[in-house]
Amino acid sequence: MKARSAGEKHDSARSGNRASSPEADWRLFDLYAPSDEHALLAETLRTFVEREVEPQAALHDREERFNRPLFRQAGELGLLGVTLPERFGGAELDAVAAVQVLEALSSSDPGFGLALLAHSFLFAHNLWVNGSEAQCARFLPAVVRGDHVAGMCMTEPAVGTDVLAMQTRARPAGEGWILDGVKTFITNGGVDAETLGDVFIVYAATGERSLSAFLVEKGMEGFRLGQKWVDKLGMRASFTAELVFDGVQVPAENLMGEVGQGTRHMMRNLEIERLTLAAQGLGIAQRSLQVMVAYANERKSFGRPLRDLGQIQRYIAETFAEYRAARAYVYDTARRLSFTGTGQRVDADATKLFGAQVAKRAADAAMQVLGGAGYMGENVVERLWRDAKLLEIGGGTLEAHHKNITKDLSRNPALIA
Ligand SMILES: Cc1cc2nc3c(=O)[nH]c(=O)nc-3n(C[C@H](O)[C@H](O)[C@H](O)COP(=O)(O)OP(=O)(O)OC[C@H]3O[C@@H](n4cnc5c(N)ncnc54)[C@H](O)[C@@H]3O)c2cc1C
Repeated sequence: MKARSAGEKHDSARSGNRASSPEADWRLFDLYAPSDEHALLAETLRTFVEREVEPQAALHDREERFNRPLFRQAGELGLLGVTLPERFGGAELDAVAAVQVLEALSSSDPGFGLALLAHSFLFAHNLWVNGSEAQCARFLPAVVRGDHVAGMCMTEPAVGTDVLAMQTRARPAGEGWILDGVKTFITNGGVDAETLGDVFIVYAATGERSLSAFLVEKGMEGFRLGQKWVDKLGMRASFTAELVFDGVQVPAENLMGEVGQGTRHMMRNLEIERLTLAAQGLGIAQRSLQVMVAYANERKSFGRPLRDLGQIQRYIAETFAEYRAARAYVYDTARRLSFTGTGQRVDADATKLFGAQVAKRAADAAMQVLGGAGYMGENVVERLWRDAKLLEIGGGTLEAHHKNITKDLSRNPALIA
């Protein structure tokens, strides 16, 4: 496949659309697999999830362990760089492919999905869209193969939602920069309790309300693992850590983009971040639904299968309708998402706002349908229920989405219809 620029990406899914030739019936358009490449990806994901992801998911959750070998396997299958150009080892697909990956993985192991999301979208995709060709050539191939584990550092102990108030500072020194500060809750901050992740995009203040982004690598003096967050509620197959930057000397070539462009990079990347987090919600809802339908068919109460009971039917039917609505919204937003465009925040926020809550309600409904069995750790529903909550916090809280959506619609009511 020929490499295309980020700007051209937006149209690539349409050009590959199986229903796009003049004689084709537009009603044949498949929102969930619009091209042959997407259909192939769906098949690859189905096999990978069934054979490799599902058998290890419960154990890695219980042991709170990131599955490094599985991550390499995902790299070998091309799943770590679905949106990146082929010249960096990517599959050169679009946001629909990104959503497919996260939906499929999260139907089995949302924690592993979160680690992939941080690596592939918060770091790799972000670097590709906002960094230089030289930086991409230097960092992306090892990241796409899964040889290096990567992440993105925005949140700090004292600053989360109010991101512009961040306290991590970068000051010019000689040819480069000196970085000081602490970042926390960083997915892939460590690979395990002893091992730092390999490379990170780190946002830091470079002036009054001016943020810039830096590429910080394992081995740079003054860069180390801080607190390892253990005993998380969910997403336990992803490793979460605090990272400490203590006078880290960052060479000039590791500045991503220009000085002061950090906020723009961050906001642009939040769109794919929120969309893929919404896709995690789809995976959780889909699996919850499958489990509750199967259980309602098998389990009998008062001599009848649970499926005959009106209250149980309500859990199933409501979840199904919400899942289908969320799925259509997420895939439709993905179809239209331009990686370099702006003004798409409202749907990125709204898909995540909705997808997160659909996932949580779906897992909760599944647990209710399963009764005591759903509450037990040996049932997948218990894990999905814990994992779902993160989607209401990470990548923007529900309240942050409320604020953004209202602001965008107030400024531009034409976004409504
Ligand atoms: C498992 C996990 C993984 C994560 N991975 C990463 C990562 O890889 N990289 C990274 O940078 N961060 C990561 N985060 C951090 C995450 O993005 C933040 O937790 C999130 O943005 C919220 O910030 P906070 O926790 O500081 O909460 P705060 O911002 O302190 O908010 C606390 C509460 O106040 C509300 N609030 C704050 N401001 C407002 C407002 N203006 N209006 C209304 N309500 C408001 C919030 O909605 C929330 O309910 C991760 C978090 C978790 C739990």
